[in-house]
Amino acid sequence: MVNIVLFGPPGAGKGTQSENIIEKYGLNHISTGDLFRKHLGEGTELGKLAQSYMDNGKLVPDEVVIGMVDDHIENQKGAAGFIFDGFPRTVAQAEALDKLLDKRSTAISCMVMLDVPQDELKRRLLERGKTSGRTDDQNEEKINIRIQEYLNKTVPVAEFYAGQSKDCKIDGVGTIDEIFANISSALDSHF
Ligand code: ADP
Repeated sequence: MVNIVLFGPPGAGKGTQSENIIEKYGLNHISTGDLFRKHLGEGTELGKLAQSYMDNGKLVPDEVVIGMVDDHIENQKGAAGFIFDGFPRTVAQAEALDKLLDKRSTAISCMVMLDVPQDELKRRLLERGKTSGRTDDQNEEKINIRIQEYLNKTVPVAEFYAGQSKDCKIDGVGTIDEIFANISSALDSHF
């Protein structure tokens, strides 16, 4: 199995590049943001729990996220591998993910990190908010909170994977195709 963590701040282009990676490498996609939005839309208990955090730009508590990912992996038996998008977002989540994969006799192959400057992130998120209907993309204050959460809690996750020599930094500014070409060359050595 090849398992990839797609890492980067909100607005880095993880969703867009995930689609390209899935298409080329045939991996199963796990986006915790999408899973939470699905629960929210269906009005499940988990969705209700996550809503207040998401509405305020804060991270949902680790145990909630980890349980949801564990369930989701369990329902995807026979997958060739996974691409984790928007997860792990804390070191506790990264440690839990290692355990979840180890339990299934597999591991993370590499972490692809999309590098985008902060000004460009805000511009992209506000632009996305005009069409996505995502309320967390329509308000500059919420965007700032999400970027702060990223800097405080998620940046250490990059150090966690660097410690395992699994990190790979990609310039996240450029055309979608240019960025994907760089991601592909980084990933090809793992396939
Ligand atoms: P973005 O990358 O644009 O911020 P996501 O769709 O990945 O958007 O996430 C939206 C929201 O869902 C986050 O702001 C957070 O509240 C919640 N969320 C998603 N993934 C996680 C996670 N791994 N840990 C905690 N909260 C999460």
